[in-house]
Amino acid sequence: MDIPRIFNITESAHRIHNPFTPEKLATLGAALRLETGTRVLDLGSGSGEMLCTWARDYRVIGTGIDMSQLYTEQAKLRAEELGVADQVKFIHGDATGYISDDKAGVAACLGATWIAGGVIGTIELLAQSLRPGGILLIGEPYWRQLPPTEDVARGCLANSISDFVMLPELLASFGHLGYDVIEMVLADQNGWDRYEAAKWLTMRRWLEANPDDEIAKDVRAKLTSEPKRYAAYTREYLGWGVFALMPR
Ligand code: SAH
Repeated sequence: MDIPRIFNITESAHRIHNPFTPEKLATLGAALRLETGTRVLDLGSGSGEMLCTWARDYRVIGTGIDMSQLYTEQAKLRAEELGVADQVKFIHGDATGYISDDKAGVAACLGATWIAGGVIGTIELLAQSLRPGGILLIGEPYWRQLPPTEDVARGCLANSISDFVMLPELLASFGHLGYDVIEMVLADQNGWDRYEAAKWLTMRRWLEANPDDEIAKDVRAKLTSEPKRYAAYTREYLGWGVFALMPR
C-alpha cells in the first residue's frame, strides 16, 4: 500500500508537505495554546514534522497515520532525531475511516482532506476521535483570486473552479457545518515557494541519479514545465491555510 510513486519522488526531501514553513507550523502550535500532554491525532501525517516539533516544543503526545511508507519512515527518524520517539507514534496505513479509541484534544488533517471525500467528510471523521472541548484542524486550499476561466483553475491543478472557494466563503462554510472557527494560520507565497520550488531541486537530483527509470520521462517533463506553471497559476491564485474548529 502506498501513494503514487511520483509524490514519493518529488517530495522525498520535504519535511513539510504543504505550503507551511517551519515558522508557520510553530505559529499554529502557539496559537492553539497547546498544553503538555495534549493528545494530537494527525491523519495524513506525512513526514511527521507537525507532531514531532509540537512534541518537542509543547510536550504534546500523539499519533500520525500516513499511506506513504517513505514519509512514515522519515517521520519515525525525525522523532528520534528530536528526542520525542516516546511521545509520538507513526503508523503506515490508510487513514480512511480511522477513528481513534483514545480521544484527542487536537484532531488534524492538513492537506489530505480527500481521505474522507473532502472537507465535510473529514470534519465528520475527525470529530469522532475528538474529546469534548477538543479542536479540529483542517488544512485546505482556497482561492486567493477567483480564476477567471476553467483553464486557469486547471493550471492550478484543480479539476475546476468549483473545487475551492474564496477565504470568506470557506470560513462561512465551517459555520454552516456547526463549527466555530477559533483560530487560523494562513500560508503565504514564500511558503508556497518553499513547498513547490523545493521539488525542483529534488527532481533534478533524482533525474541525475535515475536516468533510466521508467518514470524519468515524466519527471523530466515536470521539471521543465513546473516553474512556469507554478508562477503563472498556483502562486497567484491559490491560498492555503489551517483552520481550527470547535463544535458549537
Ligand atoms: N499533513 C502532512 C502531509 C500533507 S501531504 C504535512 O502537512 O506535511 C498529503 C499526505 O497524505 C501525504 O503524506 C500522503 O502520503 C498522505 N495520504 C494520501 N492518501 C492517504 C490515505 N488514504 N491515508 C493516509 N494518508 C494518505
